[in-house]
Formats: sequence, structure tokens, C-alpha cells
Amino acid sequence: MCPVCFKKIDIRKSNEISDAHIIPKAAGGNRKTFLCKKCNSDFGSKQDKWFGEFIRLIESKKNIVQTQIKADSFFLCNKNVRGRFEYSPESGMEVLIHKDRNPPEINDYVLHQFQKERNKTFGFSLPILAKERMISVGYLTAAYLFWFDTFGYSWVLQSYLDQIREQILSPDKMIINNLYVLKNETIEDKCWIGVIQFAGHLALAAGFSGYMIIIPPIHCQDLYMKIDELITTSIDRTVNLAGFYPIYFKNRHFYDVPVCLMFDNKIMFAPDAMAAGKLETMTIYFSTSDPVAKFSYPINNKQFQKLSKNPESEKKRIKLRGKIATKYFDI
Ligand SMILES: [Zn+2]
Repeated sequence: MCPVCFKKIDIRKSNEISDAHIIPKAAGGNRKTFLCKKCNSDFGSKQDKWFGEFIRLIESKKNIVQTQIKADSFFLCNKNVRGRFEYSPESGMEVLIHKDRNPPEINDYVLHQFQKERNKTFGFSLPILAKERMISVGYLTAAYLFWFDTFGYSWVLQSYLDQIREQILSPDKMIINNLYVLKNETIEDKCWIGVIQFAGHLALAAGFSGYMIIIPPIHCQDLYMKIDELITTSIDRTVNLAGFYPIYFKNRHFYDVPVCLMFDNKIMFAPDAMAAGKLETMTIYFSTSDPVAKFSYPINNKQFQKLSKNPESEKKRIKLRGKIATKYFDI
């Protein structure tokens, strides 16, 4: 099943499944998960195009004027000229005129300006500056897929994430009208997932190259509304974190039962089936004092309810039984 659109995929038809880069390959992303063919190609031409370019510029420490995605015209002394420009701090601005796509008088005008006039005004627009929305949906997509890559369908099969999926599937629409991408100057890891604590709230988070994406935990599904009251400005807003708790996994794990994640005594995510109380589940537990995840496996719903009330006392009592199915992959 596709983790975003929930389309059922026949695993015998391998051409319906495609490898998806969590961070677009063009921006140097290596970590891969999977999507249905349609989602992968839709994301590639919409949010990932702009998100990938944004990350590429950050990673290569380039100025936004050095973006590879440019308009096919610019202004020279208020005349619209078909052509491209390249900028680098070393060689300055270089201009390439598409002679065959400009009317002759424009080509003559350009020639005149460069040969005769000393002062020229050069104007250009950068499409990426108008794509803040696409970039932020790109971040959301990457964060969602990163959590899927780590926790599989236990993460995906939670109905409270429907709004996030809807936003990922329709990046042009304003479905989540909240600020969920924040600049992060405290966490240096290039690529991480974890739990963060700020302004008295716990949140699920994923971070890529100096920015982090906030995802509400199941115990506080209206988190976006709450953070909106605290943070009102744009993507460059930096928040002060009271705590950052990365979840450390040696490698990616696959479990043979649904898992839920707890932090201190709060449930951060739990698959719907688990909340319905029918399935035994494994709880992955970590805390402020110890960010290395511990496993209680498997427990039934009654034990889970107890654990959520008092994790410290319960986790000692729960015996490990059964086998954890684990496969290792390179990150
Ligand atoms: Zn899909």
C-alpha cells in the first residue's frame, strides 16, 4: 500500500512501486523509501522540485540568486529580454541572450546598451521566491516519509494524519494553514527525527539541513493551532527549544507487530488498530533522561494503558517475549 495515497499495490507488479528519495536526489539525498509510481512522479514535479532546489542551495552554501531554476527572461532598463543569467561571487553576473527568441529591436537595444551605455539596470525575478508554500510542503513530505521509513505502517495507519496526507497530495492547496517549518540553529545533525519540547509542548519532528518540521503527536493533535499563537512569522523564524531528544536507532528496524512510541509518559504515536484495543503491540519508549529507545514487547492494550499512566513502574514488569524481526539496511 502506498504510504501516502493508500493505493493498494500488487507486489507482483513491481512497475507500480517506485523508489522515492526522502530528500530529492538532486539535493544530495541518498536515503530512500518507496511510493506508488503516481505519488512519486507527482511529488517530483511539484513540491520536491522546489524543496530539492532549496536544500541544494543551503547545502552548497549558495546565494538564492544562484538558483538553477530561473525565469526565461529578465529586464534590462525596463525592457523585457528573453535570456538567462548566471551569477557567482567570482565572476559576477553573466548574461546570455536568446537572440532568436527576441524581436530584432530588442536585440539591437541590448547590443546598444552593452556597447554604449555605462549604467545599466538589470532586473530579474526568481521563481523560487514565490514557492515558499511548495518548499514547506516539500519539507512536510520529507518529514512524513522519514517517519514512515523508520516506523513503517504503524506510523502511517493513524487517521489523525489524514490532514497531513491531504496536504502532501495537494501541495497547491492551503490545507494546513499553519507554520510547521521552523528554522533550527540548535540541532547540528544534518538529518534527524526525534521529539522536541518547546513552549511546554512536545512534538514529533524531523530535521533537514538547519530546518525542522513539526508534526503533532497523537496526544496533542491540535498542536499546530497552539504553536500558531506562539509563532507568527515566516519560514525563517527560529524557535527556542527547551529540549531536543533524537531517537537513536542503529539501523532501520522492521517489526512483526504494530509499534507505538512513547516519550516520558506521553503517547507520541500509536496506530489506529492499537488504539482500538484489539492488537498486541510493541512500545518503543524513551525519555528525557535517556534518548536511546527501549522496547517493551509485546503488550496488550490493558498493559499499554497502564504503561501510558506510569511508564517507569510498568516497564520493569513487562517481560520480553517473542522475537523482534529485524532487518538491517545501510542508511
Ligand atoms: Zn501513492
